[in-house]
Amino acid sequence: MQTNFSLAQLADPHVAESEKILRKCVHCGFCTATCPTYVTLGNELDSPRGRIYLIKDMLENGRPADKEIVTHIDRCLSCLACMTTCPSGVNYMHLVDHARAHIQETYKRPLLDRLTRAILAFVLPYPNRFRAALKLAGLGRPFIGLFEKLPALKPVAAMLKLAPSSISPASPKASPGTHVGQGTKKRGRVAILTGCAQSVLDPAINDTTISLLTRLGVEVVVPEGEGCCGALVHHMGREDQALASARRNVDAWTRAIEQGGLDAIIITASGCGTTIKDYGFMLRLDPAYAEKAARVSSLAKDITEYLAALDLPEPVRKPGTVVAYHSACSMQHGQKITRQPKELLAKAGFIVREPREGHLCCGSAGTYNILQPDISAKLRDRKVKNIEATGAEIVATGNIGCITQIASAAKLPVVHTIKLLDWAYGGPKPEGVSESGLIAAE
Ligand code: SF4
Ligand code: SF4
Repeated sequence: MQTNFSLAQLADPHVAESEKILRKCVHCGFCTATCPTYVTLGNELDSPRGRIYLIKDMLENGRPADKEIVTHIDRCLSCLACMTTCPSGVNYMHLVDHARAHIQETYKRPLLDRLTRAILAFVLPYPNRFRAALKLAGLGRPFIGLFEKLPALKPVAAMLKLAPSSISPASPKASPGTHVGQGTKKRGRVAILTGCAQSVLDPAINDTTISLLTRLGVEVVVPEGEGCCGALVHHMGREDQALASARRNVDAWTRAIEQGGLDAIIITASGCGTTIKDYGFMLRLDPAYAEKAARVSSLAKDITEYLAALDLPEPVRKPGTVVAYHSACSMQHGQKITRQPKELLAKAGFIVREPREGHLCCGSAGTYNILQPDISAKLRDRKVKNIEATGAEIVATGNIGCITQIASAAKLPVVHTIKLLDWAYGGPKPEGVSESGLIAAE
């Protein structure tokens, strides 16, 4: 695509990067067919190609964002299906990230929208605040019906509907320290991202990961000082907050590398994985962090990516349960991890089925199911219908956002992939999973 930026505009490295991306797009429109918002709404401006035109126009003319562009960029899930489909290698992720930061800087949202976003950015990345907010959610639950009737309060209703009715206490395993690998043969040393929302909604995911890794002989470090990866605020265009989170984690993991080396930084929420693997890019212009951030990104591994390279022994039991594997967008499009989770589940004795339209987002997408509840609910219902059509007994996925979203409408238990793997390798049976398919390992 031809672009028309002045030399003065191109002196801004963010604009220069976006211009390079824009020039790669050849308007072929292949991406529209796999874009969940285009498939749902049928409007070219809600397709990747349409959004690319809108972003180009805004940046080329050096204009502040207006209501039209904000509407269509806000509807984008950042699912990155368009990047998987694009034959020209257009990096839509970096382009839309830039557009969101530009919107945040130049557009004044209506008061309630600003307030909702400010609250989400203040609460979600901080486990203690999030836990307290979930406790308060019970007070608002009786008013969900009322909030749903008022368009400006729909995000509040969506938040209350997603909030679990009970929450587990913080896990002691998530405190800074070292979990020593069992056995005589040490198979590696890794750090684990304890994260933010996941550690509150389901602390057992990281506990199970630590338990399985240590049983396999891997030492797991929970570094002092790590926290939210920054993805939630990054996708809201809050660059300063996102970069502050990235720098804090880079510092924490760099210390862990210096204190004993790390083979990997293990991530159990694929949404976080996509962002951490991008820290090298996000901090490229910061001379104090560029190199360290690139090293962190190169060490970042989804738990299934790490386990697949570990040469696992035969499982202790082969459950024989039929599992629908839902590949989170951040897993399949963001990180291009498609094979490993299914192969690990199959090796562990599960019968893996893939739902139709597996490339389409479930509508979770960070805070999307709160900020865009109508589109999100349509995508969720479509996803659940496809999952239930597989005839599976359980749904497995590797992202807490998808687990919460799908579980809010599915009749089947929805669990993190690691819990099924841990079960097969001698751990406890995941909650809500029936033992009907259990068969003994040979
Ligand atoms: S990221 Fe997803 S929703 Fe956004 S334009 Fe690409 S395919 Fe569409
Ligand atoms: S598929 Fe790629 S090149 Fe074609 S319109 Fe979409 S982004 Fe542009």
